[in-house]
Amino acid sequence: MRTQVGIIGGGPSGLLLSQLLHRRGIETVVLEKHSREYVLERIRAGVLEHSFAELMREAQVGERMDREGQIHDGFYIAHGGIKKRVDLRALTGGKTVIVYGQTELTRDLYEARDQAGGILIHNAADVKPHDLASPHPYLTYRLGEETVRIDCDYIVGCDGFHGVSRQSIPKEKVRTFERVYPFGWLGVLTRTEPVSPELIYARHERGFALCSLRSPTLSRYYIQVPLSDSVDNWPDEQFFDELRRRLPAGVSEAMITGPSIEKSIAPLRSFVIEPMRFGKLFLAGDAGHILPPTGARGLNTAASDIHYLYHALVDHYSQRDDRGLESYSQRALARVWKGQRFSWWMTNLLHRFPDSSPFDERIQETELAYLFSSEKALALLAENYVGLPL
Ligand SMILES: Cc1cc2nc3c(=O)[nH]c(=O)nc-3n(C[C@H](O)[C@H](O)[C@H](O)COP(=O)(O)OP(=O)(O)OC[C@H]3O[C@@H](n4cnc5c(N)ncnc54)[C@H](O)[C@@H]3O)c2cc1C
Repeated sequence: MRTQVGIIGGGPSGLLLSQLLHRRGIETVVLEKHSREYVLERIRAGVLEHSFAELMREAQVGERMDREGQIHDGFYIAHGGIKKRVDLRALTGGKTVIVYGQTELTRDLYEARDQAGGILIHNAADVKPHDLASPHPYLTYRLGEETVRIDCDYIVGCDGFHGVSRQSIPKEKVRTFERVYPFGWLGVLTRTEPVSPELIYARHERGFALCSLRSPTLSRYYIQVPLSDSVDNWPDEQFFDELRRRLPAGVSEAMITGPSIEKSIAPLRSFVIEPMRFGKLFLAGDAGHILPPTGARGLNTAASDIHYLYHALVDHYSQRDDRGLESYSQRALARVWKGQRFSWWMTNLLHRFPDSSPFDERIQETELAYLFSSEKALALLAENYVGLPL
């Protein structure tokens, strides 16, 4: 088999790139290790910035997102028993975010690829990229007993943090940067009305908490837990008791709870690989970087990679102009690092660190007090939250 762009990974990054390139007449094959059901069961991101939504529309998959997604003009930060609003629209001159689940947008992308007859191979085992430093790279994968070869012009690694693409780059050709936080987020999804129509990020001496949502009937709640913790230690009742303790009284009293339909712990990590290219292989999304979920940058940063790579590939195929491909890594990384800085700052502002001293706690309190006393400080927060320009 032969294609122009071979894509490893059928998550949001791989599907979005495939759909965008298809609309510009560029052929792709997407190889996904898991079944479609498995991919669609993963409950992850939910807050989309403006430029992500624009990319979905450009890919002609934004119709349901625009119909069912909720536009959020702001969010709250709770601290010391009260919550204060960050008015995104007012602070950014009219910008907002959209709340629309990653599961839903992945479903929309699958449907669009199916309708267009896109080649998307699920359960592709043992996917391997080959000859990346040569002009003729190719992919192999196993389907049952058969090994299939796909010759490509370019290979894009969209296979997430644990994928094969990043591992295929010789170690001496890259540099990695990492911070592993000593805690994770225990998340619970319930079919209940969310306690607040806008997200509430809460700093509390018992640890961070977040009241988020996926739709008017689907709530997503998180609490900070030690990395060593397990979901088995958190029956629903205990989870909600702990969540309530970390929220202002007015919020916890208003909360409607229900049985969890999903419960998982996500570790918090910051990770970047440089460069995001090796020969004919380009990395995009979580394959190249991981951001802690505080501040909702992960999927949005993946989308900015896709934006740069999509335009670079279109320029290559339509005008034989390779400047975008040559500068891809540098441009993508510039935005990745801004997202990292913001997520790191939000994480440090709102979490309780096991080794934090009374001094560190006072600094957190002072940072929050300063934030809500300065329109300029709030504007910086808002500018980053809605997404910096591409
Ligand atoms: C709890 C949580 C909350 C989050 N909240 C937000 C948020 O609100 N906003 C935000 O912007 N981001 C958020 N994120 C981050 C966001 O979910 C990720 O950044 C996003 O999934 C990245 O998409 P991706 O397509 O690059 O990678 P993935 O979603 O990881 O997709 C990679 C795909 O590649 C496949 N794959 C892996 N290995 C191979 C292989 N060897 N061969 C073939 N296929 C392979 C995988 O099965 C997977 O389908 C959150 C993450 C978590 C965990």
